[in-house]
Amino acid sequence: MTTEQKIKNRKIGIVGMARSGVAAAVLADSFGGKPFVSDINSADNLQIEIARLESAGIPFEVGGHTDKLLTADFIVVSPGVPLTIDIIKKAQSKGIPIFSEIEFASWCCKGKIIAITGSNGKTTTTSLLGEIFSSAGYDTFVAGNIGLPFSEIVEKIPSNGIAVIEVSNFQLETISDFKPDVAVILNLTPDHIDRHGSFENYIKTKFRITENQSEKDNLVLNADDTEIKKYNVSTKAEIHYFSNLDTSGTDAFVQNDVLTLHTEKVIAADNIAILGPHNLQNAAAAVTVASVFDIPIDILAKVLKSFQPVEHRMEQIGAVAGVNFINDSKATNIDSVTFALRSVKTQLYLIAGGRDKGADFKEIIPYGKDKIKSIIAIGEAKEKIFAQLGKEFRVQFAATLQEAVQKAFTLAIPGETVLLSPGCASFDMFENFEKRGREFKNAVSGLKNGKNENETLSQK
Ligand code: ADP
Repeated sequence: MTTEQKIKNRKIGIVGMARSGVAAAVLADSFGGKPFVSDINSADNLQIEIARLESAGIPFEVGGHTDKLLTADFIVVSPGVPLTIDIIKKAQSKGIPIFSEIEFASWCCKGKIIAITGSNGKTTTTSLLGEIFSSAGYDTFVAGNIGLPFSEIVEKIPSNGIAVIEVSNFQLETISDFKPDVAVILNLTPDHIDRHGSFENYIKTKFRITENQSEKDNLVLNADDTEIKKYNVSTKAEIHYFSNLDTSGTDAFVQNDVLTLHTEKVIAADNIAILGPHNLQNAAAAVTVASVFDIPIDILAKVLKSFQPVEHRMEQIGAVAGVNFINDSKATNIDSVTFALRSVKTQLYLIAGGRDKGADFKEIIPYGKDKIKSIIAIGEAKEKIFAQLGKEFRVQFAATLQEAVQKAFTLAIPGETVLLSPGCASFDMFENFEKRGREFKNAVSGLKNGKNENETLSQK
């Protein structure tokens, strides 16, 4: 079926209005579809979205989902909407197909699609690939879970353009024809089990990224990830592996501390601007994708040397009185915390905690035991952190993030690091991880502004 046939004159129910919902509605409208948008939130909270829908003449309802949605030919769900809500269940029982917003937008994409998924590193690798492709002269569009809905930009992509899309499991749950030219699975660690029921289901959903790929497509996988390696993948795509450990059977690997692609040296690991073994894996994944497009090595080296961490991901925010501060607020699971600990070379004070996602904090012990001088625990998880780590480390409590920063700073001596890498969701104390990261940065600025460097040093 052509895109036109799929969309034109079709009644399209859209559940969830915020950003991707409105973008999908406008896209549906521009392809001659008949969108109807529904949101549970009140009009007061959706003023911008409503204004956009009204100016496009697209009908909608707010404050709840009515059965009007059940007259749709198919439904597009926004990424944040759980598939367990009543209206979706009703639609499913009536046989109305449910599609994710990425699935829907992909029908309208003329350019090539590079889709990145995994438990950690998606945003970093997606942005890095965006830089690589634009530096290589491609008309490049970075979108998806990273903030800009795919539906918002898909119509602008020319046939020789590239869409680099960050894809979450939630979006993969409801794909049908989604067929990336290159799919990447970075790693698989338990996360969001609350939504997927089991780790097995979560892994299966991630591998759906390749289910429609053909022999002409490529699948890039992490050879160091035990779950990926042991999964019996069924795909028609050509598989490429990257690794930090293995040099055989892998396209990109690390040999003598140099990131190498096939037989060519790309860059010394120490010269890559984003730090740590996890970012070396992200870089290896990115160069493997780039090699499918024959992007020259000197472009890869140049971008890797200059590409800076995305905000809230091992973001170096400077030193106060010789104490270094790192904002890793996006570390919402334990795997990210272990990588953060491996990336920091100095003794450190770890600020962790927030809303627990079922984490086993004990997993950080081997990575922290020679480095962590003290853990400052915050949020709902603080008792659990104390219970699981109190024997191995000195664990202190702080009521607020600001207090945690202050406590860590008081304890740290020049040359040491204060690392915010919570291993938990932020929602018990903050609206989201971005707000948590910004509050951390504000608290650090407060230290900078409160005392001048020399004064602070002399107090230490
Ligand atoms: P995602 O978009 O998948 O959440 P991000 O790039 O935003 O990934 O990074 C999230 C967190 O995971 C950050 O704390 C970051 O330092 C860490 N991280 C980044 N890449 C990896 C990786 N390959 N493996 C493990 N952790 C990673």
